[in-house]
Amino acid sequence: NETVLVLGFAKSGEAAARLLVKYGARVIVNEAKPKEELQGTEELEALGVTFVTGGHPLQLFTADRIRLIVKNPGIRYDNPVIEEGLHRNIPVVTEVELASWLLRGTMLAITGSNGKTTTTKVIHEMLLTDQKSAKLAGNIGLPSCEVADTVLENEYMVTEVSSFQLKGTLHFRPHIAVLLNIFDAHLDYHGTRADYNHSKARVAHNLTADDYFVYNADDEVVADIARNSKGTNIPFSVHRRLSQGASHEGGIVYWHNQALLHTDDILLPGIHNLENVLAALAVAKLVGVSLAAIKQVLGTFTGVEHRLEFVKELNGRKVYNDSKATNMLATSRALAAFREPIVLIAGGLDRGNDFSSLASSFANVKAMVTYGETSDKLKEAGALAGVPVIKSTQHLAEAVKEAYPLTDKEDILLFSPACASWDQFKTFEERGDCFVNAIEQLV
Ligand code: ADP
Repeated sequence: NETVLVLGFAKSGEAAARLLVKYGARVIVNEAKPKEELQGTEELEALGVTFVTGGHPLQLFTADRIRLIVKNPGIRYDNPVIEEGLHRNIPVVTEVELASWLLRGTMLAITGSNGKTTTTKVIHEMLLTDQKSAKLAGNIGLPSCEVADTVLENEYMVTEVSSFQLKGTLHFRPHIAVLLNIFDAHLDYHGTRADYNHSKARVAHNLTADDYFVYNADDEVVADIARNSKGTNIPFSVHRRLSQGASHEGGIVYWHNQALLHTDDILLPGIHNLENVLAALAVAKLVGVSLAAIKQVLGTFTGVEHRLEFVKELNGRKVYNDSKATNMLATSRALAAFREPIVLIAGGLDRGNDFSSLASSFANVKAMVTYGETSDKLKEAGALAGVPVIKSTQHLAEAVKEAYPLTDKEDILLFSPACASWDQFKTFEERGDCFVNAIEQLV
């Protein structure tokens, strides 16, 4: 019977509004866009939800006694409604906080600058393969508020959480919190690096000794957060053997002191993916997933779509789609993931970047085909690194046709564009689909 303000009517706002109505709250949705641009408002109005659209009027606070604000994670804290709410000591939370209040099952929460989606997906697959009941929430699944209410007491909710979501948590307390790494700072949103780190740390803030904090012992900022955690700390390391937690040395993966599997048993390529795998393995072990199920997933999981995803083997060449690599860092990681010779396709939107720093990652590149707005700049970077064969084309589909004849058996044909997709595509997903289709047409 209390009034809750839902700020922002995107997918997660709609889910939060529905959940709040179901549990008896009086809900006001405030959205900057005009009502005509919103979909699904009538259905919610029929449930009693009030809409205030086209701006953020502060009269909201005088008309009603608002007790809680549930904000869309993307809305910044300098939004006037949030500022006024905080000034009035009204709690401001994100939907993952609200979801956690109502969840009956067990929350497993995964965060980090990179690798969240991959790790979340691997954990989910491991649980399902072991016949455990688990639901995905967050970026790759449905909003947490939509999922939480459907999770039963003996079920798991595997939730990918961003720093934006974590900044809006108060009592959020997963049973297992995973922190993969911290390097990207999202300064445009968080303002300072400290605020970003602090938001990431919130994933472990409310843990008790009955909960686990799975953390990357190789990352100093993360390890520092672990030192202050009240949960049971479970480290992982890709670089050195640990007596506790998940670790890797000399191609062997260990859980505590036990050798569990060989890195050859893992299909996901790259040291960065080994990080994700060790984190997932730790979570799986903590909830009692069998080794058989863990091995089955690691031996078959080809990656999340568009993220260094194994597409197929084509006459002895392995084809990978890394369309999500929208910057140089991601492409250099993809290149480092293979020991075989690589034929690289790269290109896309020109944001004025200089690609010369990418040249140091081209050691294994035997040929490259560039395309799109950045075609010439990438060619220059390739020439700087002494890549033997460099071609350029207009469109991605043509680049695929040019690249295939440059490959030999045992080579890697890698699409890792190092640029955003918007010169030729609406999204990186559409771009990745175009690549995969062009590969299919080669056959
Ligand atoms: P997120 O959900 O955090 O964006 P994804 O699993 O979608 O992460 O991976 C996005 C990209 O980040 C991948 O294409 C890969 O290049 C890179 N990546 C994945 N895992 C890691 C990791 N553990 N460390 C560094 N980079 C990673």
